[in-house]
Amino acid sequence: MKFLGLLIVLFSFGFSVSSQEKPNILFIMSDDHTSQAISAYCHALSEIFQTPNIDRIADEGMLFNNCFVTNSICTPSRATILTGQYSQHNGVYTLKDPLVPEHNNIAKILQKEGYKTGVIGKWHLKSEPTGFDYYNVLSGQGRYKNPMLKEKGEWQKEGKPFVKCRGVKHKGYSTDVVGQLALDFLKEYNKKEPFMLMCHFKAPHRPWTPAKRFENMFDGVSIPEPASLYEDHSERSEWATQTYNTISRDLKRMDLGVKSKEDTLSGIERTRWAYQIYMKRYLACCAAVDENVGKLLDFLEESGLSQNTIVVYTGDQGFFLGEHGWFDKRLMMEETLKMPLLVKYPEVVKTGSVSDELVSNVDFAPTLLDYAGVNVPEDMDGKSMKRLLSGKKDRHWRDAFYYRYWMHLADHGIPAHYGIRTDRYKLVFYYGRGLGMSGTDSDRIDPFNRDSGPIVPTKPEWELYDLKKDPNEMNNLYGNPKYTRKIQQLKEQLLELKRELGDEDTNYPAMNDVITNYWN
Ligand code: CA
Repeated sequence: MKFLGLLIVLFSFGFSVSSQEKPNILFIMSDDHTSQAISAYCHALSEIFQTPNIDRIADEGMLFNNCFVTNSICTPSRATILTGQYSQHNGVYTLKDPLVPEHNNIAKILQKEGYKTGVIGKWHLKSEPTGFDYYNVLSGQGRYKNPMLKEKGEWQKEGKPFVKCRGVKHKGYSTDVVGQLALDFLKEYNKKEPFMLMCHFKAPHRPWTPAKRFENMFDGVSIPEPASLYEDHSERSEWATQTYNTISRDLKRMDLGVKSKEDTLSGIERTRWAYQIYMKRYLACCAAVDENVGKLLDFLEESGLSQNTIVVYTGDQGFFLGEHGWFDKRLMMEETLKMPLLVKYPEVVKTGSVSDELVSNVDFAPTLLDYAGVNVPEDMDGKSMKRLLSGKKDRHWRDAFYYRYWMHLADHGIPAHYGIRTDRYKLVFYYGRGLGMSGTDSDRIDPFNRDSGPIVPTKPEWELYDLKKDPNEMNNLYGNPKYTRKIQQLKEQLLELKRELGDEDTNYPAMNDVITNYWN
């Protein structure tokens, strides 16, 4: 019997080793691609625009309805994805903060575990990528036509620091160039060690510039308008009347690709006209992304890699597509807080499954490390979503999510704020202080107006939304006596989250006055 037991142990050991081959990871991210523009999310726009290739990931895996970004702006979101940490722990609070190269990240960890690691396309973290065997990243924001890319081992020839280098021009349209480089990486892959490839498209970021082949795809099509497109904001908090993200006034001619003589309307009429052009350009950019995602998925299938490869599709944050009359991101409102998240991993993730759990970009690194069989470092703020992806309940999963946007009035005039989002409620505190964040206090009030004055503190304001009764966040319930107890409870929960996540503002004396005068 002892011998039989030993045999069973040996057999199961051998079996578990061979069956737990480390998975490959293909992480695909677009810039500003929001879930309203992905047909798997069945938004009204899916009637006139489909993303059949991105949808394949949801068909063959899981779609997340509530994936939240910790800080709704490019650079901080990318840093959070790489580090599994909030801004207060990875040091990337604003668009101007570099990710310190010495900081730990998922690529460094996987590289040590024998993964071949690569990142291609948008980087936007100022410092040189570390932990990657191969990188070929866009200079700064990256441009749509004939983009410049900096390749590991090549840009050094310019003899300047990474940030100052221009890189090498690649002929073609940005999305196609990035897609092709990603395909090349996969084709050269030797199948000996597992890989993690991060493929980051620049599209559909401003200035929305479609590929030639998609320029006329919406000719004669009327894009459905969101119900709140013509909202006048007078019923909203004061901050909402002072922003520079309106379709009516703040979409510029260069955004719309029109000449001054074509831009003659104002007010509601301009909103109606500009919205159509904006959406046609934005969606046409997404069309090229979808096409390139299809090529990558096809290649995985044709080369037999599909079965053992985790494919993730996401956008670095959400985006307004005309809701509340706005474009851009930054806010903790549903459209901009939510990231699209679709994950497939055959044999592990059930096809066509859906999750409503509150997950976040802070969970991406812990999840992928967990699948790679690596212990998640204790200083990561996120959690592994492995149980959720297996279709199981995770009793220890979060029931509330903490958000913070640190930039204050820089670009588009959005004030700094933090808040809590539960499955039903959202409480937001616009505390109205820059707190010395880089690129915040030094910027102009109006980025488009050279004569506008310096940044000043703004009046702190609170908002409460009941997302069950008011999914579009039209009625701020803060101050409504019926909700006094709910507000108190959410504030306590918010403080608890701030304690847990090490974001108690003890280093910011400017917050003392705000808390004393505006917390209650
Ligand atoms: Ca972005």
